[in-house]
Amino acid sequence: APAIELRDVGRRYGERYALRDVSVTVQTGATLVVFGPNGAGKSTLLRVLATLLRPHGGEVTVLGESLPRRDWAVRGKVGLLAHDALLYRDLSARENLRFHARLHKVDEARVEELLERTRLIGRAEDPVRTLSRGLLQRVAVCRAILHDPPLLLLDEPRANLDPAAAELIEPLIGRASGRTRVITSHDPAGGLAEADVALGLRDGRPALLAATGEVDVRA
Ligand code: ADP
Ligand code: ADP
Repeated sequence: APAIELRDVGRRYGERYALRDVSVTVQTGATLVVFGPNGAGKSTLLRVLATLLRPHGGEVTVLGESLPRRDWAVRGKVGLLAHDALLYRDLSARENLRFHARLHKVDEARVEELLERTRLIGRAEDPVRTLSRGLLQRVAVCRAILHDPPLLLLDEPRANLDPAAAELIEPLIGRASGRTRVITSHDPAGGLAEADVALGLRDGRPALLAATGEVDVRA
């Protein structure tokens, strides 16, 4: 069954549509790459899928549940990596991750494992507001994947990472059995390599929808 089905989905901020007439189906375990320039609606689409924003039209089915009616049934099964990191800035990385672990009933050993794998142990007790953007991004990645969500939503996951850090997090956010991913990118050439399905957005409207192999990145 598809993990995500959108039909003619719209979302406004005030009067203005940030998303309009978006339709796409993503099979379980597949990767959808959403690309387009700044302001195209990529983050808005992720927020709708994460049940943080209600759709203002169309039909949204996520993990078999119809949104917004079944938001609560989806929430714990989604991992969102957003630009604003979704962390408590006065808490440390460890405190943030432990809080999240309790919410999702995840063992604290998982927190330590992730802090180690992302080489955050040395900074694990510092308030996250004192971390560099790159380190903050590593904490945010840990937060997004901590509960091993079957749906992973990644907003420009490599944006603030140096190559070494990118290599550390790659196995954490990569393709995994049964894990469906939606990844945004403002650079189609960078993102499309891992796409099973690609959706191009411009001013909130679909500009291109294609399965891998059909996409001409020069277009
Ligand atoms: P992207 O992630 O592709 O940069 P966004 O989804 O962030 O695009 O934004 C799409 C459009 O919606 C933009 O015009 C943006 O300015 C607008 N927008 C985004 N968030 C809000 C908000 N909270 N209130 C009003 N307008 C918003
Ligand atoms: P992102 O692409 O992750 O949404 P942005 O820098 O576009 O990051 O947005 C940061 C915050 O500002 C978000 O909460 C977004 O909803 C809000 N925002 C973006 N554009 C607008 C806008 N035109 N009016 C009001 N809020 C906006």
